[in-house]
Amino acid sequence: MFGFGLIKGLSVTMRHFIESFVYDRKPWEWFTVDRYDNKWLERHQAVDGKGIFTIQYPEQKRKVPERFRFLPMLVYEETPEEPRCTACGICARVCPPQCIYIERATDDRGRPKAQPSGFWIDAVICMSCGYCAEYCPFDAIKMNQEHETPTTDRDRDMFLDMDHLLVPIQYYAKLHPSDYEAEEAARRAKEEAKRRAAEKRAEKD
Ligand code: SF4
Ligand code: SF4
Repeated sequence: MFGFGLIKGLSVTMRHFIESFVYDRKPWEWFTVDRYDNKWLERHQAVDGKGIFTIQYPEQKRKVPERFRFLPMLVYEETPEEPRCTACGICARVCPPQCIYIERATDDRGRPKAQPSGFWIDAVICMSCGYCAEYCPFDAIKMNQEHETPTTDRDRDMFLDMDHLLVPIQYYAKLHPSDYEAEEAARRAKEEAKRRAAEKRAEKD
């Protein structure tokens, strides 16, 4: 029927308008309920949430999904002086826009060490593809979710060095719990397999 789609669309808008008063803008709560409270945020973000879908940014911030990624970060276990990164350079090679720069550390005798002395990412160029994290054989580079990076000087603040990139493993585990658990399980399985192989070799000898 001519105009049916228009009426249907307007009825959806009207339904949301009315629901916003039933679920959110309850006039009898206007002076008693804190609208920046976390319960409101959770309700707004729920898949089956009703009423107002807007968030009071920047007082409230949308919770991003676990898979959300923005810029890379470098993971360390105990201290920032001992990152997982071995400076192998694979991430820099696979990075499509070529925005990763790595400098390998050397020991007292000038021999190369499996560690970076410098690691930079040009965040202006990075396109958040996550290839670096996917290809890293040491689970050393992961994707951060911090996406509010306003600056007045992008040359100074968006060329990220190790001070900006290094994060403890606990930070990564909190951001990406499923990936972290899967990686840890794989690591444990690999260590167990190695231990068994060593035991078998010892038995043969
Ligand atoms: S982050 Fe990973 S892939 Fe990149 S240099 Fe370090 S160990 Fe190699
Ligand atoms: S996320 Fe993609 S573009 Fe950004 S540094 Fe990693 S590989 Fe390069």
